[in-house]
Amino acid sequence: MIRAVVWNEGLHERDNAKVREIYPDGLHEAIAAGLRDPDGGEEIAAETALLTDPEQGLPEERLAETDVLLWWGHRAHEQVDDAVAERVQKHVLAGMGLIVLHSGHFSKPFLRLMGTSGTLRWRVAGEAGERERIWPVNPGHPIARGIDDHLVIEGEEMYGEPFGVPEPDETVFISWFQGGEVFRSGLCWNRGAGKVFYFRPGHETFPTYRHAGVLRVIRNAVRWAAPRGGRHAQKVWRVPAEQAPEPVWRTAEAAL
Ligand code: ZN
Repeated sequence: MIRAVVWNEGLHERDNAKVREIYPDGLHEAIAAGLRDPDGGEEIAAETALLTDPEQGLPEERLAETDVLLWWGHRAHEQVDDAVAERVQKHVLAGMGLIVLHSGHFSKPFLRLMGTSGTLRWRVAGEAGERERIWPVNPGHPIARGIDDHLVIEGEEMYGEPFGVPEPDETVFISWFQGGEVFRSGLCWNRGAGKVFYFRPGHETFPTYRHAGVLRVIRNAVRWAAPRGGRHAQKVWRVPAEQAPEPVWRTAEAAL
């Protein structure tokens, strides 16, 4: 059983009737419902966390018991406490998986882990929507499992290259948009003992998190990112010479 937490800032649903109509229980609940879908794969226990929860939903004890954290943020990146972002980074380096969704490309935890700008191209007034085709470029990758040829989303917001991220360890998907742009839309990185996956679709005014193929990819990603060997906190190891596994001596003395 994989323990997943879906984090959401939860502001668009509060302030925008159109978003509330698509996601009456919030984006986080739609994503969590997708994770709970029994598809025959490893079971995922999905909980949710909100920016407005105590400790912004992510206290130390909760992260310690989370295998994979999913992040949806857009308007409130700056409201996320640096201490929370640092805590998430620390847990990823120790082995927790992180799935960053859509506008989370500018979130504090993602930028900390990437060390780059996270910048991209986007369509002004893109809420009109355009067709997105998501092509697996690595169809044997576990995150692409069960995707039949490619995914089509009839209405989405365009994100285009260049995407300000480090060269990924693996590229799973590339998106084509009706307007002509392309974007690396499914990217994997290893950071310390942890795995990070960025997945592009999910603008709040479209029912993208009700799309069966999108939810399938997110479930696959959670299973891929779940730590398999426990946590490995990063620390400095000080080893006196007499405690080395083999006898050691100073080269200069040995040469006399
Ligand atoms: Zn968006």
